[in-house]
Amino acid sequence: MSGAGEYDIAVVGGGMVGASFALGAARAGLRVALLERAEPALEWPEGSHDLRVSALTRASQRILENLGVWTRMRELGITPYEHMRVWERRGIGEIAFDADEIGEPDLGHIVENRVIVAALWRALAAQDGVTPLFGRTIEALETGAQGASLGFADGESLRAALLVGADGARSRLRELAGIGLSARDYDQHALVATVRAEQGNGATAWQRFMPGGPLALLPLRRDLFSIVWSADPAQAADLRQAAPEAFEERLTRASEGVRGRLRLQGGRAVFPLRLQHANHYVQPGLALLGDAAHVIHPLAGQGVNLGLLDAAALLDVLQQARANSQSPGSLAVLRRYERARKGHNLAVQLAMDGFKHLFGNPNPLLALGRNLGMGLAGRIGPLRRQFERVALGQGMELPPLARPGAAGDC
Ligand SMILES: Cc1cc2nc3c(=O)[nH]c(=O)nc-3n(C[C@H](O)[C@H](O)[C@H](O)COP(=O)(O)OP(=O)(O)OC[C@H]3O[C@@H](n4cnc5c(N)ncnc54)[C@H](O)[C@@H]3O)c2cc1C
Repeated sequence: MSGAGEYDIAVVGGGMVGASFALGAARAGLRVALLERAEPALEWPEGSHDLRVSALTRASQRILENLGVWTRMRELGITPYEHMRVWERRGIGEIAFDADEIGEPDLGHIVENRVIVAALWRALAAQDGVTPLFGRTIEALETGAQGASLGFADGESLRAALLVGADGARSRLRELAGIGLSARDYDQHALVATVRAEQGNGATAWQRFMPGGPLALLPLRRDLFSIVWSADPAQAADLRQAAPEAFEERLTRASEGVRGRLRLQGGRAVFPLRLQHANHYVQPGLALLGDAAHVIHPLAGQGVNLGLLDAAALLDVLQQARANSQSPGSLAVLRRYERARKGHNLAVQLAMDGFKHLFGNPNPLLALGRNLGMGLAGRIGPLRRQFERVALGQGMELPPLARPGAAGDC
C-alpha cells in the first residue's frame, strides 16, 4: 500500500459532522485521516455574512462543548435565542416557545456554518493524530470487516480499519459502496439571505407557514436575521432575481411586518430541497454519518443536529468496541451505531415531512384545523413544553458526548 498511508479511521468530508467526528476520534487516541475537498476558511472579512447558518439544539451545544470548540465558536460569533414564534396568519393561531418557561437561559443558538467549521478545523490543527488530506479524487473503494481502502485518481491509496462517509447529500462513498437511497424531491427550493430588521431581532426565531412553504427568520448578531424561505422552484428563482427593493417588499409582506421593514445585506442563494435516506448506514468497514445518511427538510432546522448525534453515537459505539477488543469495522459493531440512530433520524424526517405537507395544503378545512391546532398548542403548556424539549434536543436517550460535562473522549 503506497502513498496516503494507514490509519485507524479515515473520514471523507470535513464539514460540520465529519470534522466533529474526526476530532472526537483523534481525542480518543485514534489515528485519523480527514479528507476534504479544500482547506476550509479559518477567518473572513469583518462584517461579511455566511448565508448558511444552523439552529443548534442544546444536545449539539453539549457535543461541541465536550469537543472543546464551543468557546472558540463563542469568540467567532454565536447568537442565543430565547423565544420562538410559529404562526400561519397573524392573530389566528400562534405557538409561542419561551426559554424562561422551562427554566433555560435560551432555546438554542443560531450559528453561521463557517463558525462551526472554522472552530473545528482550528482544534483539529492543534490535535495529535489527525492527518488532513485535501483535494483527493476518490476513484475506488474496497470494504471488509478487517479494514477498508480508498484508491485515488493520482494512483495513491489509503487503508483504514474503518472508513466514515461524512461527505454530504451526494456522498461519493455511499455511491461507491453501492448503498441505495429512498429519495424524493420536495419540489421546493430554499432561498437564503441575511437581512437587517428595522425593529431588531428580539432574540426570537420566527417561522411562518405559508401555502408555498415556510419562511424562517433566524436571529443573528444585533438586528440581523438569516432567512430561509422555502418556495416552489419558480418562485424561489424569481425571489432570487428580484431587484433588492422589490425583494425586501415581498419579504417584509411575507413576514407580516413582525419586525418592521427587512433590508437585504449582501447576496442571496437558493438550495433545492430533497428528502433522502440511505437504505443502510453501515457495511463491513464503512459507516455513513450526517447528510450522507439522511437529508431532511430544513423547516425545523434539524439536519446538522441529527448529524452531530450520529457522530456522538458512532464514537460511543467505537469506545465500547475497543473496550471489548472488537474490530471497529466489524458489522456487529457498526450495526449498533445504525440501530442507535436510524429509527430516530427516520422519525424526525417523517415528522418534518408531515409538517411540510400539513402546512403546504391549501384545503380550507385543513387550514381551519391547523389554526385551531396552533391556537390550542399555543395555549396548552405541557404540549408546548414538549415542543420546547424537542428544540433543545432533549427527551431521547443521548449518547455520552451529548450529555453535560462528558469527558469528550471515546
Ligand atoms: C437552506 C438550508 C438551511 C438549513 N438550516 C439548518 C438548521 O438551521 N439547522 C440544522 O441542523 N440543519 C440545517 N440544514 C441542514 C444542514 O445544513 C445539513 O444537515 C448539514 O450541512 C450536514 O452536514 P454534513 O457535515 O453531514 O454535510 P455537509 O455540510 O454537506 O458537508 C460535507 C462535506 O464533505 C465534503 N466532501 C464532499 N465530497 C467530498 C469528497 N469526495 N472528498 C472530500 N470531501 C468531500 C464537502 O466539501 C463538505 O465540506 C439546512 C439545510 C439547508 C439546505
